[in-house]
Amino acid sequence: MCEEILSVKDLKTYFNSRTSTFLGKSPSIRAVDGINLSINAGESFGLVGESGCGKSTTGRSILRLIQPTSGSINFAGRDVMTADKKSLRTLRREMQMIFQDPYSSLNPRMRVLDIVAEPLIVHRLAKPSEAATKAKKVLDHCGIPDGSVQRFPREFSGGQRQRIVIARALVTRPRFIVADEPVSALDVSIQAQILNLLQDLRDEYSLTYLFISHDLAIVRTVTNRIAVMYLGKIVEQADTSVFFSGPLHPYSRALLSSVPRETPDEDKKRIILTGNIPSAANPPKGCNFHTRCPLFTEKCKKIAPELIPVSKGHSVACHLALKSSK
Ligand code: ADP
Repeated sequence: MCEEILSVKDLKTYFNSRTSTFLGKSPSIRAVDGINLSINAGESFGLVGESGCGKSTTGRSILRLIQPTSGSINFAGRDVMTADKKSLRTLRREMQMIFQDPYSSLNPRMRVLDIVAEPLIVHRLAKPSEAATKAKKVLDHCGIPDGSVQRFPREFSGGQRQRIVIARALVTRPRFIVADEPVSALDVSIQAQILNLLQDLRDEYSLTYLFISHDLAIVRTVTNRIAVMYLGKIVEQADTSVFFSGPLHPYSRALLSSVPRETPDEDKKRIILTGNIPSAANPPKGCNFHTRCPLFTEKCKKIAPELIPVSKGHSVACHLALKSSK
């Protein structure tokens, strides 16, 4: 598990803001503000952070479902940023996305078999009869039996619909999947089944995941590495086990402390962050977390910390965490 499949360098995705200032200028929304990622084949890499920190925009930018503002994206030796329409089509077969909402991801007027077979026909990977056979096989792997493939999406439960979404993403035999909050719309009882399915499929189909979630408890169970995002930047990155045994960034610590614990005593250690998340259109100067940080100093107000390695595979962007880790 050491061959790099995805390399992202200094990725920025800015959106135009519709609200203008009193001078009439519209500030850009810095949804993703200079992130670097290196993901190895076979990994399940978690991207976590509160809602609005730029996780989805990162995932969509990597697949160029959104046009990034700048930076470089390299997938399996190919330049995604400069790929023309034709190369992008090929790349999209290999890089798929699973979205949060299985209700809006499926065409309600199509039968499930056609929904899953469609990408094979669109990408000219199979004739219609072959496409149906292949689609049935993938559906079966995803837990949708042959007997129900002629039904419409509305005839399935939320969990089953997410299985269909996953089958559709897998039918072109991708190598890389961005799973964007794949279980957050589902009942807790169903979540574990879908997470187990994703783990089984990773082995069966030799997949690499970028797993996006706001839920640390979920990320802990399904990823081997993790990056924490805050206001468009990565503030900490580590092996999942290392991260959960000792997060260094004050934001990571606060996030982790909000995950419910087994004993009430542990709950007392909860760190409550004050203040709202600043606007991505007008992020604070210096360290963009300093306005909510319980530990900030004068330096944090002025100088943005770089993401710096503190031990093998563990990096943190915090002036204070760096000091304390030395
Ligand atoms: P997350 O996935 O972490 O919840 P997003 O990537 O969806 O965060 O959003 C990051 C920031 O970019 C937010 O401030 C959001 O409002 C803004 N944003 C996302 N998409 C758009 C868009 N199409 N136009 C303008 N702003 C956007």
